[in-house]
Amino acid sequence: MQVPEPDYELPAGYQHIYSGKVRDLWRTPDGELLFVASDRISAYDHILSTPIPDKGRILTAVSLWWFDQLSDLVPNHVVSTEVPDAVAGRAMICHNLEMAPIECVARGYLTGSGIIEYQQSGSVCGVELPEGLIEASQLPEAIYTPATKAELGDHDENISFERTVDIVGKADAEQLRELTLSVYTRAEQIARDAGLILADTKFEFGRPAGTADGFVLADEVLTPDSSRYWPAEQYEPGKVQPSFDKQFVRNWLTSPESGWDRSTDTPPPPLPDVVVEQTREKYAEAYRRLTGKQWVRQAD
Ligand code: ATP
Ligand code: MG
Repeated sequence: MQVPEPDYELPAGYQHIYSGKVRDLWRTPDGELLFVASDRISAYDHILSTPIPDKGRILTAVSLWWFDQLSDLVPNHVVSTEVPDAVAGRAMICHNLEMAPIECVARGYLTGSGIIEYQQSGSVCGVELPEGLIEASQLPEAIYTPATKAELGDHDENISFERTVDIVGKADAEQLRELTLSVYTRAEQIARDAGLILADTKFEFGRPAGTADGFVLADEVLTPDSSRYWPAEQYEPGKVQPSFDKQFVRNWLTSPESGWDRSTDTPPPPLPDVVVEQTREKYAEAYRRLTGKQWVRQAD
């Protein structure tokens, strides 16, 4: 997968470390991490050539809001939001952590890779589930379904809890599971009060390099990119729920109008303005529903 170079310049002393599908990571002159959310959007394993204006700012604002909501449960990696002007509003300075090599997923509902595994084995990541569950069923209780961190462009692979014990040891594996479920449980309640079902989400944890300290909640957190949110008023088990944020993009890309053949390696075509606008509005709506505040449009 080809990741575009950052399209902004930072003052001297910032060193580019990595660009993922959405984020750019830089080392700051003080040795911390500058974590920048771009306006890039991905769908069907491609980074689209058309950005969604304000998306990086909204993802950053939503993450910061969640870190705040969760701060009594778990420490987080945020140091400050005083960042260079070129990335104002869409970046944070974070502690540079040694990341646990596990994608810590919690699910309260059955969908995506979860329902595929359930239909084959009656369980997800080794967690036995009752019979008779259907697409989008609520689970009797939230489950921890860890995954390996795949290389850029590859799919994460669901693994059992025992496998995470092999990777990080028993004490850390247990700590990751406990933190993931407690943070999900809190977040699910908060989202529900905002009219959103938090079907599942992925957390990443790390700790200061070379220490055995407790884990710190890192990365982005509970954004529409790392989580499945469903509008509660449209929830209807038995069918795939529309994606809160990317549905317009997916619908258009798979419509005859786009002319794109998903089965080939060709990159998707640029998005029409109307799809960009609808998608931008969905990110703003997520911000509004969660925080209760209006989103003031900035990029134009
Ligand atoms: P995607 O999330 O789209 O699957 P990705 O995870 O490769 O792709 P990004 O989310 O854009 O890409 O990149 C963020 C990277 O930063 C991840 O590799 C994550 O593990 C890492 N990371 C997050 N927080 C910290 C931190 N505090 N210290 C060090 N690395 C971090
Ligand atoms: Mg990521």
